[in-house]
Amino acid sequence: MIRQAKGKTPRRLPPKKASNSQKDPVGVYCRVRPLGAEDEECCIEVISNTTIQLHAPDGLKANRNGEFKETQYSFKKVFGIKTTQGELFEDVAKPLVEDIIHCKNGLLFTYGVTGSGKTHTMTGSPGQGGLLPRSLDMIFNSIGPYQAKRYVFKPDDKNGMEVQNQVDALLDRQKRDSQTTVPKTPTTRRIDPEFADMISPEEACKADGVDEDSSYSVFVSYIEIYNNYIYDLLEETPIDPIKPKWNVAGTPLRNNTEFIPPQSKILREDQNHNMYVAGCTEVEVKSTEEAFEVFWRGQKKRRIANTQLNRESSRSHSVFIIKLAQAPLDADGDNVLQDKNQVNVSQLCLVDLAGSERTSRTRAEGSRLREAGNINQSLMTLRTCIEVLRENQMCGTNKMVPYRDSKVTHLFKNYFDGEGKVRMVVCVNPKADDYEETLLVMRFAEMTQEVEVARPVDRPICGFAAGRRQRNQAFKEELTRRLEERGGPLDGESPTVLNQLLQSFPPLPPCEISGPNDDVTLPRLIEALEKRHKIRQMMIEEYNKTANMLKSVLQEQDSNLLSKENFIQEQRGKLGEKDKMLQNQKNEIDRLEKKSKMLEYKIDILQKTTNIYEEDKRSLQHELESREQRLQREMSEKRRMEARMQGIVTDSKLKWEKECERRVNAKQLEMQNKLWVKDEKLKQLKAIVTEGKTENRQPQRPSREKDKVPAKRSASPSPVPSPYHASQSSLSSLEPIYNFSQTVRPDPHFLRPGSVSVASCISEWEQGVPQSRRQGSQSPPDRRKRAQGLPDSLSRRRGRCWAREVPVQPAETGPPVRPLHRRSHSAGGERWVDHKPNTNVDLDTVLQPNLPNAIKVNAPSEKALSKCDKYVLTHQEVASDGEIQTKLIKGEVFKTRGGGQAVQFTDIETLKQENPVAASRKRRSSETGPDGEPKEGDWTDVETRCSVAVEMRAGSNLGPGYQHHGYPKRRKP
Ligand code: ADP
Ligand code: MG
Repeated sequence: MIRQAKGKTPRRLPPKKASNSQKDPVGVYCRVRPLGAEDEECCIEVISNTTIQLHAPDGLKANRNGEFKETQYSFKKVFGIKTTQGELFEDVAKPLVEDIIHCKNGLLFTYGVTGSGKTHTMTGSPGQGGLLPRSLDMIFNSIGPYQAKRYVFKPDDKNGMEVQNQVDALLDRQKRDSQTTVPKTPTTRRIDPEFADMISPEEACKADGVDEDSSYSVFVSYIEIYNNYIYDLLEETPIDPIKPKWNVAGTPLRNNTEFIPPQSKILREDQNHNMYVAGCTEVEVKSTEEAFEVFWRGQKKRRIANTQLNRESSRSHSVFIIKLAQAPLDADGDNVLQDKNQVNVSQLCLVDLAGSERTSRTRAEGSRLREAGNINQSLMTLRTCIEVLRENQMCGTNKMVPYRDSKVTHLFKNYFDGEGKVRMVVCVNPKADDYEETLLVMRFAEMTQEVEVARPVDRPICGFAAGRRQRNQAFKEELTRRLEERGGPLDGESPTVLNQLLQSFPPLPPCEISGPNDDVTLPRLIEALEKRHKIRQMMIEEYNKTANMLKSVLQEQDSNLLSKENFIQEQRGKLGEKDKMLQNQKNEIDRLEKKSKMLEYKIDILQKTTNIYEEDKRSLQHELESREQRLQREMSEKRRMEARMQGIVTDSKLKWEKECERRVNAKQLEMQNKLWVKDEKLKQLKAIVTEGKTENRQPQRPSREKDKVPAKRSASPSPVPSPYHASQSSLSSLEPIYNFSQTVRPDPHFLRPGSVSVASCISEWEQGVPQSRRQGSQSPPDRRKRAQGLPDSLSRRRGRCWAREVPVQPAETGPPVRPLHRRSHSAGGERWVDHKPNTNVDLDTVLQPNLPNAIKVNAPSEKALSKCDKYVLTHQEVASDGEIQTKLIKGEVFKTRGGGQAVQFTDIETLKQENPVAASRKRRSSETGPDGEPKEGDWTDVETRCSVAVEMRAGSNLGPGYQHHGYPKRRKP
């Protein structure tokens, strides 16, 4: 059954726009070739399978002052020097071949300096086939059993593909067979040793998921772009002697007869906006060998052209395009569907670019320099296009990409603008000479990686049920089997089936005609044949009916199967989604587990911290408690102390109260004494007054004293004499014991014997002013009195220390004086009690008191006093000028009636050191006042300080009165 091709060309689908939003970056791979035998220095190091490092060669470093550092470049993958062609293909080209089989376009190009291994990578050498032969091999391995017969697919010269009907295809095939002398099966042919072993059968690859319900056909074209001209390397150029033999650059050929240069081609854009070389030869190939042979043919042609035209092959770009046409089988699965819309053409473009080195490196001269410049120009354009593309994609700009500036980029346009995979293999030669060029190559390559290309989408499959080819195959096999069972073939049909059919027909009547009048045989035969014909018609009808039924059943099954498959697909998708969800959840669980671990760890730390704080708190509390206890203790101590102090205060208060009382009493006594003296004076005055009249009345006076005084004295029992009194009385008996350098003496006024009168004493007491001041203002009667004077001894004795319980002795001539027991000075000389308190300081004075035969004590003791008759107290104090002055307070010891000892102070000697300068001033001021009179302060001071008397009785304690320094300085009693 041969289906007729449809007469009209079906309307093409609207241009396939890159509707896919998903994009993939240009895959850039780096391949490092081994260092050549002649090269020594290596400037590239493969650091990892994605990174290489460039280091400047020694010479260059020296030239640039070592400014060149190591630079690293990263790629999708880096292939080291040991990488085999197979490994490279596996990673780089295999996905592209899979894509082309699944109707997706691909572009693969090698880029690098001349000699870096571009051609080696793309084409390879015998035994080391490159990416190109391996790609071809993989394609044919994959589509081999599903290839359409030659000329079923026919390029339409507009980059499209048509499906020819079987007859046309057959005719074309016959034409080809008659034209070519080559044997039909290339496998049996002798393979050109130049490209033998490009692919070894062990390395055969096959794509998965090839649509078996499609028919495939491979077309290859091979072009060269040189100096921005495109040449078809597969064009069969008929020898035309008339045609002028000029090359494209306009230079006449060296040899007109040998070589006809190829005509350059132009680029066109098809209705899908894909670029194609107009009029370019597309050779349909049916096997790897055939394809490679075609390639090799082009290669040879290229080589010849280069030689003939004196071109450098490294300066041209070679583009090998593999086109794969595929169309679905018809519903029966035995022929390609005659629908142009259903034809899918995908192409893989394998480009071996020209060397990327700069013009200066080539040996180009003159016109060749221009060519070289152009070649580099196209690479420059490629670079610019990539830059603009990158900028547009990264910055969202919409700059025009200058694809049209060069043929190479123009040809690549639809790969970058449309969809498909773009891959680049950057080839590098690690030799030092290439360093600078390699650096540029690396930069370009890194930049290229940033450009993204739309990911190709899967094409929808045609509406027919899948598995048609297999079913058709199975049906054919089954039919053949059955026909064979029935018998030999008839009418070109299977013999077995024919036999069976014949047996089912009614037998033919004998057909031999007995004679001219035999009119039975023929009609009988006609009848039988008609019958058979009828049966046959019926059978055909039946057959058709059954076939149709079967067909519909099959179709139904097909659609069932399809829906089932769709369902399964759907379920698979759902499963995938579920899997993804599961994975997500697993990830989430992992994350949470990690988080919980982290939190546990944190809790642990916090627990520890809390423990530390609690311990701290405990210890602090402990400390607080102990401090509180201490405070409590201290408080109670304080309270106790307060109580004690209170006690002491009340004690001393009482003591002092008593003391005051005692002193008041003493004062009272004294006052009484004075009163008595006044009385006495009055009496004397009276006597004097009356003397003139009656001289014999005088002796009566003592009787009055006798009556009055004792009564008064008994009322004032003070044992302590008045300080004032004591001092006054002591003044008259001053005797210097030592000749001190500075001996402060009482006012000389007081030293005059007989100068102290009772009257003056009384007036002092009454007025409370120093005697010295009043001396000059004494009343005339006073002076007169003094002139008349009482006996010195009497007046001196009066007012001395008065002891208690002293019996009043009657005196004829004056007031009664208490008789004091004085020790005899003659019996063994004077005996001193030398009282030096411990608190005294040793002064390095030249003059030191020296008391021979003295009892030295540091506290007064009754025992010592009882043995001596003189007492001296060495007292130290700080004088007004800050110097320490030592005072020797002298006194006489008397026995009291009670059996105790009493000391009557008589004299003070002062030992004082002073600064000569300050001393003179001091002395002056202390001796005389501004009016030339002595100052009262001094004598009062002396008076105060010598006015301490102590009476000690047996068993008595020292009273406060004993501490002579305890008395405040007093001006008034
Ligand atoms: P290009 O095409 O870049 O100018 P070629 O592919 O012609 O460079 O390589 C130059 C030389 O280096 C060739 O002789 C080739 O065999 C050798 N060569 C290149 N790459 C490799 C490689 N990876 N392994 C071994 N030899 C290589
Ligand atoms: Mg090359």
